[in-house]
Amino acid sequence: MSRFLDKKYSSLDAYVPGEQPQGKNYIKLNTNESPYPPPPSVAESAAKAAASLQLYSDPECRELRRLLADELDVGVENIILSNGSDEVLNFAFMAFGGGGAAFADVTYGFYPVFANLHHCPSRIIPLRADFTLSPDDYINKGSLIVIANPNAPTGLVISLDEIEYIVKSNPGAVVLIDEAYIDFGGDSAIPLIKKYDNLLVVRTFSKSRSLAGARLGYAIAQSGLIEDLNKIKYSTNPYNVNSMTLAAGYAALKEKDYYARANKNIIAVRDETVKRLRDSGFEVLPSNANFIFTKYPGFDGKMLYTSLKEAGILVRHFPGPRTGDYIRVSIGREDQMDIFVNTAISIVTK
Ligand SMILES: *Cc1c(COP(=O)(O)O)cnc(C)c1O
Repeated sequence: MSRFLDKKYSSLDAYVPGEQPQGKNYIKLNTNESPYPPPPSVAESAAKAAASLQLYSDPECRELRRLLADELDVGVENIILSNGSDEVLNFAFMAFGGGGAAFADVTYGFYPVFANLHHCPSRIIPLRADFTLSPDDYINKGSLIVIANPNAPTGLVISLDEIEYIVKSNPGAVVLIDEAYIDFGGDSAIPLIKKYDNLLVVRTFSKSRSLAGARLGYAIAQSGLIEDLNKIKYSTNPYNVNSMTLAAGYAALKEKDYYARANKNIIAVRDETVKRLRDSGFEVLPSNANFIFTKYPGFDGKMLYTSLKEAGILVRHFPGPRTGDYIRVSIGREDQMDIFVNTAISIVTK
């Protein structure tokens, strides 16, 4: 740290992204990326857009918003696009977190970082012992509520009825549902936005659309909340989504069949992986995402992470009293998961 950093940031605990190793060739199961590249049309579209990079991108992202609006059956005024969903999450904490931000003790690690960054008092709500979320803990909080559904790193979901119960009982606060993994399981809350002016749904192209490197996310809500988020966007970075990414996103939305097949395959490989691990004595939470959260009774999670890494397989370990026993494993290709399962079993039974 230099002596110039503003005091209000000196104690900031920044988010630590999963490793993106350069060089050594790992089986990379640590950041929930898709194991499949986007279809060729997506890269072609991005390359075509690259020919006009002398021009600024469309700050209103009109074409992509229109296509997305059609697909989601909402209006264009109900959508804001962002530079990855992390950006619109940041905007939401900035815009709606003044009265505090409530979220689970075991959830996406970026929420507490955004809360600190914007000085939103954090209200940490512990999940139950089995990592499920109790909706009654979220009644009338009077502050921004942030729930990942499916949750990370657990992969567990809450039902649409439970979401509506929480949204309805917090009329004075924004309820943000982060649906980064919704294409792998669970019911989307998007149909509820017509009914509730305090519901904000956030999504990303990073996981189920194989576009983590393109950085494209979005939020859906009634127009009032979207206007608020746009106020923040135009006060920070009006051209927040670059033109290659807009083109890639547009092409991706036209490739419904490709992604339906890819995601179906990921779900099938996930379910087979869970079955094999359980058959070998691992405990695995029921996953609705493109990753699993698993532990082997009596075996240290950090040790499992380290041994897998030495064997060339990168997974994620989250230290801490509730998560330290576990590893989070992204679902890769079938051949990669086969190697992972065999290696994990041989490590814990050695
Ligand atoms: C991956 C992830 C995101 C962020 O994705 P972007 O790449 O920034 O779009 C947001 N929320 C959760 C829960 C995630 O796991």
